[in-house]
Amino acid sequence: MQKRDELYAGKAKSVFKTDDEKALILHFRNDTSAFDGKKIEKLDRKGKVNNLFNAFISEKLEEAGIATHFIKLLSDEESLVKKLDMFPIECVVRNISTGSLCRRLGVEDGLDLNPPTFEFFLKNDDLGDPMINEYHIESFGWAEASHVERMKELTFKVNGILQKLFLDAGILLVDYKLEFGLYDGEVMFGDEFTPDGCRLWDVETREKLDKDRFRQGLGDVVESYEAVARRIGVKLD
Ligand code: 5GP
Repeated sequence: MQKRDELYAGKAKSVFKTDDEKALILHFRNDTSAFDGKKIEKLDRKGKVNNLFNAFISEKLEEAGIATHFIKLLSDEESLVKKLDMFPIECVVRNISTGSLCRRLGVEDGLDLNPPTFEFFLKNDDLGDPMINEYHIESFGWAEASHVERMKELTFKVNGILQKLFLDAGILLVDYKLEFGLYDGEVMFGDEFTPDGCRLWDVETREKLDKDRFRQGLGDVVESYEAVARRIGVKLD
């Protein structure tokens, strides 16, 4: 597999073309960003832990029958993935109320949500990723109705699989964001699943173990990611 030109540099990952037009290389960098790129820092070992974390979760999802873009690990910080045609949409499931949900709706932080709730956001940093609904998605052609249904179905299916995986390690999956794209007409999970895009709390102490440590300046960001990784069985060395 030959690595070719950089296609795109995101806030925490860079994407490279390869000699296979249907495959890309994701490079997980040490850059960490929050607040739509307004806070950025480099954190040692973050690229590696996120790359290995994402590979581990992707393999668990594949084993459970969820198609992902992940093909294989190439190095500590790089993975080979299928090239998807991404929808400009973020799918969020919340099992416990916190974050923007509480700010928007004025609801108490830390409430168990039964059933879990679901939200769509538009990927647009300039607009601060506004919340959108299914009518917006269809009216503006961001995805077809059948693809929207499939994204919702897959995002909830991921919840069942990952809530158990984390709970078995004494960790609550509070909420998470997934992104999807099309590959040969199939809606497939793309982007990444790492502590950058989900909230994870220790079940006993409710200590935050995810990117909220960075957003809120709590420190030990990568140390917490590594601790979660080890608890769920990711091999870091
Ligand atoms: P909230 O809407 O409360 O800020 O975020 C809900 C969940 O989605 C959190 O787990 C958060 O990490 C994730 N999330 C929402 N937007 C983004 C985003 O633009 N980037 C990343 N990495 N995660 C996001």
